[in-house]
Amino acid sequence: MDFFLYNTLTRTREKFEPMTPGRVGLYTCGPTVYNYAHIGNLRTFLFEDLLARTLKLFGYDVTHVMNITDVGHMTSDADAGEDKMAIAAEREKKDPYQIARFYEEAFVTDLARLNIRRPDVLPRATEHVAEMIALNRQLEEKGFTYTTREGLYFDTSKVPDYGKLEKKNLAEQLVGAREDVNIDPDKRHPADFVLWFSNKPNHIMNWESPWGVGYPGWHIECSAMSMKYLGETFDIHCGGIDHIPVHNTNEIAQSEAATGHPFVHYWMHAAFLNMGGKKVSKSAGGFVTVQTLVDSGYDPLAYRYLCLQAHYRSPLDFAWEWNDDGKTGRAESLDNAAGGLKRLYERLASSNTDEPLTTDAAFEEARSDVMTHLGDDLNLPKAVATLHTYGSPRLWRAFDPVLGLDFDKNAAPRGQTTAPSDVQALVEERETARKSRDWARSDALRKQISEMGWEVADTPQGPTLKQR
Ligand code: AMP
Ligand code: ZN
Repeated sequence: MDFFLYNTLTRTREKFEPMTPGRVGLYTCGPTVYNYAHIGNLRTFLFEDLLARTLKLFGYDVTHVMNITDVGHMTSDADAGEDKMAIAAEREKKDPYQIARFYEEAFVTDLARLNIRRPDVLPRATEHVAEMIALNRQLEEKGFTYTTREGLYFDTSKVPDYGKLEKKNLAEQLVGAREDVNIDPDKRHPADFVLWFSNKPNHIMNWESPWGVGYPGWHIECSAMSMKYLGETFDIHCGGIDHIPVHNTNEIAQSEAATGHPFVHYWMHAAFLNMGGKKVSKSAGGFVTVQTLVDSGYDPLAYRYLCLQAHYRSPLDFAWEWNDDGKTGRAESLDNAAGGLKRLYERLASSNTDEPLTTDAAFEEARSDVMTHLGDDLNLPKAVATLHTYGSPRLWRAFDPVLGLDFDKNAAPRGQTTAPSDVQALVEERETARKSRDWARSDALRKQISEMGWEVADTPQGPTLKQR
């Protein structure tokens, strides 16, 4: 079955054609590990997980690479401000590598809690500085760079199609460019960007380079790591929409300048999660993390289920109300998602649910109906709505490899009517307690039985057992 996707580069829906039949090279911009990921970041990572899972369901062998940015991401995407890692090290009075490893681990844990599959390769920027230097040298040799006291710059005027991802030419970029306060006065054009920050012997993470002691620019990190693991040209590159005007634009310019080939065939960008009309940002403070959801009593998969019901190219509003403790809170949309997911689990687990797709032909037809929606630029909201319409437990389960809602674990069939012998022994013990009017013992046993997943009811015919 064909897979269609919306390509930011062409602004059209296109049929996906991999470079090598049956294989997909996928690169997704990863987190900057200076803090916990907020649920906005995770909405983007969830989209990328759904994409990778869907491509696998369509039969592709996917190699998914996601970088870990642990140096060089400045507070302004346009190279100004301070390195976010330096700010975190100062804030927490720790070594930047400790900070990086701590938040990387927290990130990997968050992925697992949301059932986001771990990418096949998770390269760290600090472990690929040699590749970045080599790429910068290549750019320098080909005449795409100039140096100032501040560093090695990419000269955007040397690239006629600079800005093609954003569909803005250089003149328009000039109008829109941010004039940051501490901008380098020797920078020739506002759109030019740093490939290497030089003369930074006091920066907390630095390396020797042909341009002096310093550290790499953020954009070159993604070009160096993606091309190392996926080749000079690869299939799909993803990120959040905020990466279109600067980060991904610069990745394209420098990669294509260095190699002379197209960098990526398909660009896909996820829309933002907005909180109260504003985007969620780490710098705005008080942001919601997966741990916040857990502390507030939510199953992280409820957030996954919520995201599944919004198209990745539509902004998703998320009205979170903090409790007075400032640590927990609630969101009505998440309450609804959690309730819906619970009902879904119950329906799938119940032995009373009829299977409406009684023949293999009916099942196959329904399955391909859902596949069509998935293959239509990852239309998960439609796919989920279609699954609800068919109401087939078998069909829901067939799509769990994409949905990632863990039906095997959370909605195991509950057809079993005879309790295991240890449960039955407790029921008998409880009967003895009841007969001798030892209500405390009887209640304690009921609780113990309940903890083992069974509910005991007292009827005139004696106790009956039901799975909880
Ligand atoms: P960062 O760790 O800041 O580099 O961001 C990681 C990813 O999250 C990037 O792909 C961003 O585009 C994306 N992102 C940042 N904020 C949001 C948001 N509010 N909603 C969705 N994605 C976001
Ligand atoms: Zn990137």
